[in-house]
Amino acid sequence: MKIALISDVHSNLEALEEVLRDIEKEGVEKINFLGDAVGYGTDPNKCIKLIAKHCDIKLLGNHDYAALGLISLDGFNKVAKTSVEWTQTKLKKNSIEKLADFELSSTFLDYALVHASPENPEDWDYVLGIDQATEQFACFSQSICLIGHSHIPTIYTEETDGTVTTSLSNTMELDQNLRYIINIGSVGQPRDNNPKACYLKIDTDNSKIEYRRVEYDIDKTQAKMRKAMFPDFLVERLAVGR
Ligand code: ZN
Repeated sequence: MKIALISDVHSNLEALEEVLRDIEKEGVEKINFLGDAVGYGTDPNKCIKLIAKHCDIKLLGNHDYAALGLISLDGFNKVAKTSVEWTQTKLKKNSIEKLADFELSSTFLDYALVHASPENPEDWDYVLGIDQATEQFACFSQSICLIGHSHIPTIYTEETDGTVTTSLSNTMELDQNLRYIINIGSVGQPRDNNPKACYLKIDTDNSKIEYRRVEYDIDKTQAKMRKAMFPDFLVERLAVGR
């Protein structure tokens, strides 16, 4: 079975629509969403609607959690905070109801699914390097943990001797004897110097994974953000993927 994992859409409708088109073209049977439907972009309601319609498992990210008023905005930087507050003024009642149904973590086949890290999903801790990944391998029982949050596609492998290695390759055949933490990248705000929307495709029959990179109309997304008077920093980063 081919499955797709998408994460960190961040209200970027153009990126999400192109990714869903690519997923359909690839013959994927199931889509799971790892959180952050909203924040940073101009289309929170349409993105929530599409995610709710197309995705099987749907997780909450820290921006979704904040938009629902479930955490204080003190830990957010100024741009993120302003963006959450903007989103709160735009969210329709039925979007809030849909978002409130999303979960903090889940499992699917032999995969643990969480937005930030498995130890305590509500702490929103980043997995940004080998030390953090090493700690997190002790915090889930499945072979593979799929995460989002940093917007940087990365594969952490726990080797048989317990050491953790990292890979940035676009495709990999997973070894059934090893364990992995895989950051699936971001649909709506990639930060790995590649502006194309990113998602992960897994063929569960042969354990092959592939990061798919999808072009979308960045100019259109940016024009909508400028019209909504979003900070230049948020608008410009989309074109460079940082
Ligand atoms: Zn995010």
